Amino acid sequence: MYLLYLDDSGSVQNASDRHIILAGVAVFERQPHWLSQKLDELALQIWPDNPHNLELRGADMLGGKKHWRGVERAKREAAYRVAMETLGQSPHVHIFGAIIHKAARSPIDPKEYAFEEICSRFDRFLARHHSRGNTQRGLIILDKSSYETSLQQLAQDFRLMGHRWGQLYNLMEVPLFVDSRATRMIQYADLVAHAMRRYYERGDSTYFDLFSQRLDAVGGVLHGLTHFKPPAEPCVCKACRMR
Ligand SMILES: [Zn+2]
Repeated sequence: MYLLYLDDSGSVQNASDRHIILAGVAVFERQPHWLSQKLDELALQIWPDNPHNLELRGADMLGGKKHWRGVERAKREAAYRVAMETLGQSPHVHIFGAIIHKAARSPIDPKEYAFEEICSRFDRFLARHHSRGNTQRGLIILDKSSYETSLQQLAQDFRLMGHRWGQLYNLMEVPLFVDSRATRMIQYADLVAHAMRRYYERGDSTYFDLFSQRLDAVGGVLHGLTHFKPPAEPCVCKACRMR
């Protein structure tokens, strides 16, 4: 089974967020153990007394918030970098991301649109494996605390929407919700989504560049990234260049 850990970034209500971002990391079921260990090791270096309580989340790390307050900036940035390099250097990691310009997608709910994009791209990823004789089911795993961001509602409607889209042949029917504090893999998804936010909202590709080679792609064709933007707005991101 392939597991796709997803997290979102950006608020539908907050006018200063131009984009809604949904992003995540797909791995074969045996991979999370090893990847989680890497974040555990990082947490142990930063907070030896209580590493399991140290969540690695992009906004907290770069902003020096929550448990990261008091950790010097260079150390916080280095930890973020190491986490993203770990993904970038792992050949079995497949990254997916949907960056949806809210105003350009209006009146369609940008979050629902992002979720649909990611689900169908993950489904096609599994279909590709199936056509090569490796039949695997896919399970989507979401952060339990994302009530505010309406992912919860989307996930509840998942079966209904999946049928409406008419193309989710390889996914389990119900997404799984987990506590991000207990699941390092959700923290990876948050770090990826936040890195995409910095790139698409601020033009800062520092962290995005560290894992972008793991965006799902075959033979140079990029499948794992989609950027929905106003037609007249120029963009040189990987997704727009390939269009
Ligand atoms: Zn673009």
